Amino acid sequence: MNPTLDLTKELIARASVTPDDQGCQELLINRLQAIGFTVERLNFGDTHNFWARRGDTAPLVCFAGHTDVVPSGPEEKWTSPPFVPTERDGRLYGRGAADMKTSIAAFVTACERLVAAQPDHGGSLALLITSDEEGDALDGTTRVVDVLRERNETIDYCIVGEPTAVNTLGDTIKNGRRGSLSGRLTVHGKQGHIAYPHLADNPVHRALPALAELAATEWDRGNAYFPPTGFQISNIRGGTGATNVIPGSVEILFNFRFSTESTSEGLQQRVHAVLDKHGLHYDLVWSLSGQPFLTEAGRLTAVAQAAVRAECGVEAELSTSGGTSDGRFIKAIARELIELGPVNASIHQIDEHIELSAIEPLSAVYEHMLHKLLTDDTAA
Ligand SMILES: [Zn+2]
Repeated sequence: MNPTLDLTKELIARASVTPDDQGCQELLINRLQAIGFTVERLNFGDTHNFWARRGDTAPLVCFAGHTDVVPSGPEEKWTSPPFVPTERDGRLYGRGAADMKTSIAAFVTACERLVAAQPDHGGSLALLITSDEEGDALDGTTRVVDVLRERNETIDYCIVGEPTAVNTLGDTIKNGRRGSLSGRLTVHGKQGHIAYPHLADNPVHRALPALAELAATEWDRGNAYFPPTGFQISNIRGGTGATNVIPGSVEILFNFRFSTESTSEGLQQRVHAVLDKHGLHYDLVWSLSGQPFLTEAGRLTAVAQAAVRAECGVEAELSTSGGTSDGRFIKAIARELIELGPVNASIHQIDEHIELSAIEPLSAVYEHMLHKLLTDDTAA
């Protein structure tokens, strides 16, 4: 009798590499409809999404997650086939075991137990599931959030099932994420013979002092939840390959991981100010892949920490580290949002796995949280 493990295995056996869902969502929809959820399929292009809701009163407690997985990589490098869920040495192996099919299964079985115990529970349960989190994420969660926002649907508490634990289940809860802003800078000069620099204009020489200033700038000091905003150059490309030619231009790629103390607009203005001050001739193309978001310590974090303490015997730390997640879209309509899921050490790797001993406790943590959050809407 291990319903979460069984459902996890059924999901892993479906090779749902982004955005091809392979029936994962229909499997979940059947389970949820059987316990009284109303399900809306919100498919856009190749991407499958659904919004499932049970109840029509506040508070609305939502689980958000993705059925898609990243490609397995070379299958022969896996100890057992990536889409054959395999128990070995106290672990369950398979693509998606940690990111994030176990989380979805754990939440569905938590709902099943809760509904069995309290068919007339207070508040509302919801799931927001996408098949395009690992891809370009254009037709996934962001589109569903648009639909929900248009009809003024707001989420009181959202739990994203991303794998957040570092060493053991429950040790880390993400209560925000940094923003990510990238720039592609092209500094223009004039190509020429390296022996006649007065007839050329070296864009590398022009760019270097400006880049040094950008690299040395303190953008902000972070805050209680975020480290200071970081600026990193990832690529510099310039030159013809010849040693006697001054290049005509140089291209620099850089990225900000930024805290809630800075805004994407403010960072862009400050970069332009530095480049202009150094008199550069340049083009700069920006791309914003995510705004930062934050849920300050409050009711949801307290409930999550209490659930982890009770079910896992672990003190959970709040963290905003790591890359972006779909939380960045959902926070726009969610009063409080956290991410809480399995150990992330093996995600996206060969031989991805989860400890078998973590599977039922994860479901117990979610169930514990649901009981607390649904029955008490006194949160401020
Ligand atoms: Zn994930």
